[in-house]
Amino acid sequence: MDKDKILVIDDSAVQTEFLCSILKDDYELAVCHTAEEGLSAAKEGGFSLILLDVVMPGMDGFMLLRELKATVLTKHIPVILLTSLADIQYEERGLLLGAVDYVTKPFSPVIIRARVNTHIQLFRYQMQYREQAMVDELTGVANRRRYESESAARWQEAVRFGLPFTICMFDIDKFKLYNDTFGHPAGDKVISTVAQKVSSFFWRATDLFARYGGEEFVAVFVGSEARPSYEFMKTIRQAVEDLHIPHSSPVSQWVTVSIGGVTVVPKLGEQLETYLKSADAMLYDAKRLGRNRVVWSDHNTEQWRED
Ligand code: GH3
Ligand code: MG
Ligand code: MG
Repeated sequence: MDKDKILVIDDSAVQTEFLCSILKDDYELAVCHTAEEGLSAAKEGGFSLILLDVVMPGMDGFMLLRELKATVLTKHIPVILLTSLADIQYEERGLLLGAVDYVTKPFSPVIIRARVNTHIQLFRYQMQYREQAMVDELTGVANRRRYESESAARWQEAVRFGLPFTICMFDIDKFKLYNDTFGHPAGDKVISTVAQKVSSFFWRATDLFARYGGEEFVAVFVGSEARPSYEFMKTIRQAVEDLHIPHSSPVSQWVTVSIGGVTVVPKLGEQLETYLKSADAMLYDAKRLGRNRVVWSDHNTEQWRED
């Protein structure tokens, strides 16, 4: 296993060298001598812990701590404050601001190592838990909870930057019949195979594809106009059919999906929920028109559908 990375932020070179000498055998260390440098280093990611000096010229440790806890990219990283005995009144303030612990100077190597080890261990558990809580167990794609939290972020970006926003629903066709014919465990396998195939098309960092529930999935992405989004979905629908998973439904000899979606440029005051409902209405149309097809709307004048 790779060594965990620790970011040390302290204006004193003597202190940082001492800390590094204590921790370098067990951890990979990065050192910054100002809060500003520390903030940008922390945002670059990959740190499991930050050791932060409180008293620094310019931006001090408290200001940086507040900033770290207010930033999405860094708020989950545990911060241990480095204080001298004279700063004891600061500890309360630091802990209230979200630090997990503090160590006092002059440093005791044994105490430093013990506290660091404890918080790194807790951080690993937390990461494991977050991972498990956000991933659908059967398919390995994002789960409903992750959809709820990330779709809101994507929506806000689209509103803020005036970008086209796409939301679409996928539903496996005649799946009850599949279970009835081939059994529930075989059905589980199909859900997983289809999920992985569809998921492989959503590889951009800002794409979101999640299992919405049962044999239904949802995708959200920004920056693509309505027509290309519709074409993209047709490709995905075809890719599922081309898996050639045998089915015996009135729709096809293969397992297929129906897809309904909308692409809109959101306006201030509008709700994401409104468009989720529209996507669901498009999906309903796709089912009604015979399944294994895509129905799309720009929520204005245009609608596209496969015949
Ligand atoms: P339609 O083409 O209208 O979507 O027909 P359908 O049969 O797929 O739709 P319906 O919503 O009636 O049935 C969905 C079925 O999906 C019923 C349920 O047993 C099955 N299903 C839901 N979740 C799971 C799952 O996790 N595993 C398996 N094997 N089946 C599931
Ligand atoms: Mg369904
Ligand atoms: Mg279905």
